[in-house]
Amino acid sequence: MPISTTLKFENIEFLALEGKFMVKCSKCSERAVIRLRYARLNLCKKHFIEFIENRFIKLSMKNKLFEKVGKALVAVSGGKDSVTLLHLMSKAAEYFGFEIHGLTIDLGIGHDYSRKSIEASLKNFEMLKIPYTIFSLKKHYGFTIDDIASYGREAGIKKPVCSVCGTIKRYIMNKVALDVNADVIVTGHNLDDIVQYVLSSVYSGRIEDIVRLSLKTPTRGKLIGRAKPLAYFSEKETLTYVILKKLPFNYDVCPYYRPRSFHEKIKKISNELEETVPGSKITLIRSFLEKIQPALEAKYSFSTWKLRECKLCGMPTTGEICSFCKIRLAMENIVKR
Ligand code: SF4
Ligand code: ZN
Ligand code: ZN
Repeated sequence: MPISTTLKFENIEFLALEGKFMVKCSKCSERAVIRLRYARLNLCKKHFIEFIENRFIKLSMKNKLFEKVGKALVAVSGGKDSVTLLHLMSKAAEYFGFEIHGLTIDLGIGHDYSRKSIEASLKNFEMLKIPYTIFSLKKHYGFTIDDIASYGREAGIKKPVCSVCGTIKRYIMNKVALDVNADVIVTGHNLDDIVQYVLSSVYSGRIEDIVRLSLKTPTRGKLIGRAKPLAYFSEKETLTYVILKKLPFNYDVCPYYRPRSFHEKIKKISNELEETVPGSKITLIRSFLEKIQPALEAKYSFSTWKLRECKLCGMPTTGEICSFCKIRLAMENIVKR
């Protein structure tokens, strides 16, 4: 991806890498390549990378994300966010002294999408010498996300592909975390994802979803805890990080991704607000995660819902049969034909 002159984003600007004018880095005399308006800094390549890596460690420490963690499972899809996450987690693992294990799920999507995602993930695991698992949905359960998209309705699956895919990914992440004895599952949700999620959940009053959204959830029996250490990093920062570090990542968008117009509008409005008030996204999420969510959790306590073991697979669920087994059973009849 060529970075040339002044690619301007809402809160970050690439400052004329090849341009005629020169903006100096706020920390040294080198040419700045990026402006972080929320931090009031212009940074050269070296100082941008250093800033992101130090900020990741500081925020992880402040939010106690890896306290008592012996091993973290890092979910990597091969996109910019999860590739950034993997590299930052590798720094954090060294700093805090825990192990990491990478996981990429081969979902069987599109002609090329899954292949490219796996290739990018593999390159990064190998570059960082991180042990990893590539978990094939087809090999383990006999179907793919493409099969769900083609035959799901016929099999009686009424939910949209992305919702089914989300259930499958959560199940596999938990299963692999148990297999490799990880204490926490780390995912690459970024600031923009979380802003969209919070605003759309508040708009439609989905209290259950709002309460569940947290930087860190504890392990409950066989349900391994989760952490979202990229919650305060924008997608522009993760994109800049992978580009400046020349990391392999999959640029393609999943063929099943359907931007919802309401979500797109929220994105546009939050970007406009960020343009006028730099740092407003971070402030919104900080207020939400540190003040509103804990207050709501104390009132609604969805986290105390009783978990039992799925009758079929033994994994944690609130019903008799877990959502994943329901999908697996429905697809079994179709793929057998
Ligand atoms: Fe799965 Fe939808 Fe994401 Fe594609 S866009 S990987 S189908 S959740
Ligand atoms: Zn510098
Ligand atoms: Zn099950």
